[in-house]
Amino acid sequence: MSLTKLEAQVARDLELTAHPHMEWMVPRLHGGKPALDVLIVGAGQSGIVTAFGLMRERVRNILAIDRAPEGKEGPWVTFARMPTLRSPKLQTGPDLGMPSLTFQAWYEAQHGAQAFADMNLIPSVDWHEYLLWFRRVLGIPVRNDVAATAIAPGRLDDGGPCLRVTLSTGEVLAARKVVLATGQDGTGEWWMPDFVRNLPADRRAHTCALDIDFDRLKGKVVAVLGSGASAMDNAAVALEHGAEVHLFCRRRPTGVQRFRWLTFAGFLRHMGDMPDLWRWRFMANILNAREGFPPDTLERVLVFRDTFTMQVERTWTDARMEDGRIRLETTRGPFHADFAICGTGIRQNVHLRPELAAFADKIALWRDRFTPPPGEEDALLANYPYLGADYQFLEKTPGEAPWLGDIHLFAIGSTLSFGVSGSSINGMTIAVPKLVAGLTRGLFAGDLQRHWQSLLAYDTKVVDIDWSRVKTG
Ligand SMILES: Cc1cc2nc3c(=O)[nH]c(=O)nc-3n(C[C@H](O)[C@H](O)[C@H](O)COP(=O)(O)OP(=O)(O)OC[C@H]3O[C@@H](n4cnc5c(N)ncnc54)[C@H](O)[C@@H]3O)c2cc1C
Repeated sequence: MSLTKLEAQVARDLELTAHPHMEWMVPRLHGGKPALDVLIVGAGQSGIVTAFGLMRERVRNILAIDRAPEGKEGPWVTFARMPTLRSPKLQTGPDLGMPSLTFQAWYEAQHGAQAFADMNLIPSVDWHEYLLWFRRVLGIPVRNDVAATAIAPGRLDDGGPCLRVTLSTGEVLAARKVVLATGQDGTGEWWMPDFVRNLPADRRAHTCALDIDFDRLKGKVVAVLGSGASAMDNAAVALEHGAEVHLFCRRRPTGVQRFRWLTFAGFLRHMGDMPDLWRWRFMANILNAREGFPPDTLERVLVFRDTFTMQVERTWTDARMEDGRIRLETTRGPFHADFAICGTGIRQNVHLRPELAAFADKIALWRDRFTPPPGEEDALLANYPYLGADYQFLEKTPGEAPWLGDIHLFAIGSTLSFGVSGSSINGMTIAVPKLVAGLTRGLFAGDLQRHWQSLLAYDTKVVDIDWSRVKTG
């Protein structure tokens, strides 16, 4: 099958599954201008798939925005320095159950079934191309090169509630619902220790940095902190550019990927319904383990026998510049390097996000709602937002900012409340429909009065009864 034929199949499948066909959203105004039903901030995979889910529910007055230029959304062709995805190729997600929209269908349409069968893991570039195709073939409305910089409560012209979202262009968009599909750092930051951050900017980087000049590292000593998949990928790229790389890890890598353990329907669908203690316990175990790297990644660094060293159970405690080089203090004495890369992941801190800053202190966090049993405390996990059943923010103090309930978080920050959900491929199949149902629930509830009036006024006849032909008693 060619891509053109596949696209025809997608159109046909959408048609065959279009029930219920009836439009149900009524355009609303804010300041005399059209308001959106849903604004999605972030047009990476989570944002565009949420848009697809909404469009299938006939919520089509929506927009996804992304601060990145078109084709540069998400990590896949920017800072994910890995030739392939880490997750198994048979994990579906964006298709939301429609076979013609799967990665496999898209790939086979261009390269044939044998090529897919022969593939080990999905090349990152292909995953990215697939997401761009998905967006195009479904006509997802996306506006690039624009960031959401602030969110505030507002009123529609008919008095209903809305959110006013300020953009980097200075425009203000009104929307009844906002979805934050802002990725790994959506409710926090890519984190590195302060002593590394305080080194000169051209001597250190986080693995998420777009602009690491690896050519400059040829013949230099590069110290990488962390043993997760991204740390290993960055080590590999530095090695491939001729650097000598030392990768420092607190614990000996186990080779285990916990995300593979949890990929079963019970966990994906129901973790978010479980009591707080169990959500906390499971997710603490999973989130506190660095995501393991696949065998290919290990092979990628092991090729460099002479220039790659794993400094096992040795971590950094301090850093400073000394005679033009970085002096790292480690748990086993000092180490000198020319460049430092932190593969230290993310940390939650809603105060750091410009779009959340004005009301960050009003967002309920896990620390506000849950006290772990002695021995299970975790100050970092406690900073995750404590979300409501529809992925919405809750107020720290009830009654203080009820409008927070119209902001739905679908990013890594959703993970402690729901298990794998936002910012994950394997969670999408189950989590996106749940999010979409939460959004439509709110939109429907907000219009109950109008629906009631509409029902009372409903007089569309499916049959005109000719009473002259009916014998009445
Ligand atoms: C390096 C790396 C490798 C990964 N590999 C895998 C893997 O192999 N398998 C797997 O299952 N998962 C993997 N993941 C996890 C997950 O699938 C990815 O993080 C994925 O990108 C999540 O999709 P997303 O849409 O939630 O976030 P993203 O893809 O990051 O998209 C978020 C978008 O929001 C935009 N944005 C953020 N803030 C704003 C704002 N204020 N205004 C406008 N736009 C904004 C960003 O520009 C970005 O494009 C990986 C993650 C990383 C970081």
